[in-house]
Amino acid sequence: MTAMAKKIEITSQDYIKFESQVCAPNYLPIPAVLERGEGVWLYDSEGRKYLDMMSAYSAVSHGHCHPELVQVLHEQAQTLCIASRAFYSSTLAPFLQKICELSGLEMVVPMNTGAEAVETALKAARRWGYEIKGIPDNKAEIIVAANNFHGRTTTIVSFSSDADYKKHFGPFTPGFKEVPFGDIEALEAAITPNTCAFLVEPMQGEAGIIIPPKGYLKKVRTLCDKHNVLMILDEIQTGLGRTGKLFAFQHEGIIPDGLILGKALGGGLLPISAFVSSREVLETLRPGSHGSTFGGNPLSAKVGLKALEILERDNYAQRSADLGAYLQGELKKIDSDLITDIRGSGLWVAVEINPQKAPARAVCEALMARGVLSKETHDTIVRLAPPLIIEKEQLDFAVGALKEALKEVEKAL
Ligand SMILES: *Cc1c(COP(=O)(O)O)cnc(C)c1O
Repeated sequence: MTAMAKKIEITSQDYIKFESQVCAPNYLPIPAVLERGEGVWLYDSEGRKYLDMMSAYSAVSHGHCHPELVQVLHEQAQTLCIASRAFYSSTLAPFLQKICELSGLEMVVPMNTGAEAVETALKAARRWGYEIKGIPDNKAEIIVAANNFHGRTTTIVSFSSDADYKKHFGPFTPGFKEVPFGDIEALEAAITPNTCAFLVEPMQGEAGIIIPPKGYLKKVRTLCDKHNVLMILDEIQTGLGRTGKLFAFQHEGIIPDGLILGKALGGGLLPISAFVSSREVLETLRPGSHGSTFGGNPLSAKVGLKALEILERDNYAQRSADLGAYLQGELKKIDSDLITDIRGSGLWVAVEINPQKAPARAVCEALMARGVLSKETHDTIVRLAPPLIIEKEQLDFAVGALKEALKEVEKAL
C-alpha cells in the first residue's frame, strides 16, 4: 500500500523487487521497467528512452499505440466490446473475410491467444482426419518438427522437444510424432495412413530463427497432397509481414491447408488469433464442438480488421524485406569474435553469440544500457525483430549500439 501511494519515488529496482514478490517467476525479464510506448520507442519509469528491437515477440509490428488503431479501439470500446458468439455481430464477418482474402483460404475460427489457435488447428485436423479422411477413431496422428514452438498448453507442450517446457507437467497428450525440421525424407517416412496433419512453423522462431533449406515448403506441399495429409503452418510469428512477405509460405509460392495467425494480428493492442482453413476442414466444427467466450468479439474484430488494412496499405511486408536486407548487411559488417552467425528473413534477424565467449544475455544487457531493447533466445541468440514501421536511421542506431555492446562484453572477458 505504501509502495503504491509513493509511486513517484519508486525506483526501477524497487519495482522489480515488488513484481518478483507477487508475480510468478516464469519469465526472467531484462531489467527495464516500461511505462510508455510510442511507435518504435519505449520509455521506462525513470524516463529513459529505448529503441524496441523485440516488438513483444513480433506482436507489435505496427509499433506501440499506433494512433489509427487506438482510435478504432476507442470508438469501438464506446460502441460494443464483448457480445459472445451466442449472437451475431456486424463486425465479425468483415474481419474474417479480410483474413480469407489475404491468405487465399476460405474460413476462419477466431480465437484470442496463439496457443488457443494452435489448439483449434489440432482439433480441426483430427476432426477432418476422422470424418473426411476416414481414420479409425482415436488413431489420428499429427506430425510436428523437432525444436518447434507452438505455445504452452498441456497438449502443445506434449510435443515440444524442450525439456524445460515439459518438466513435471505430464502426463501428456498422445498422438504426435516428431521429425527433424527441414528434413523432407524424414517427413515422408513418418507419414502413415493415420496421419491427419503436419504442423510446422515455416521458419522456426523460438528455436532461434531457423530458415529451412530452399524448396522445403514446396516439397512439404507436394508430399501432403500425395498422402492426403493437411499441411498446417503456424505463422503466429512469421506471418503478417515479419519475414518480408505477408506470409512466409509466399516465399515458396504455395498455399497451406491450414494457417495459424496471432501476435501482430492484434495490432499490438489486443490478443487476437485465428485458425484459417478450407470449408472442408472447418465445416467439421459443428455447433457445440469448439468455442471461446472472447474469440471474435467486436472490439477484437474491429482492431484486427484495421490492423490488416494498415499492414496492407503501408506495405509492411515490403518494408520488412527491404529494411531486413539492409539490417543484415550492416550486421555482417561488424567485426567481432563474439558473433558466430547472422541469419534471418526480413526484419527478423538472429545474431548468434559464441557461448564459449559470453552469454547472449550479457549482450542484451549491454544493449539496454545503450538504449536498445532485445531479449536473448536460448542463451546464445540476440534476436532483432523491431516494429515493421522502423526507419533506416533507427536501424543504424541499433547496429551502432550493438557494436559498442559487443566491444564492452568482449572487454569484460
Ligand atoms: C508466440 C507463438 C505461439 C504462442 O502464442 P501465444 O499467444 O503466446 O499463446 C505459437 N506459435 C508460435 C510460432 C509463436 O511464435
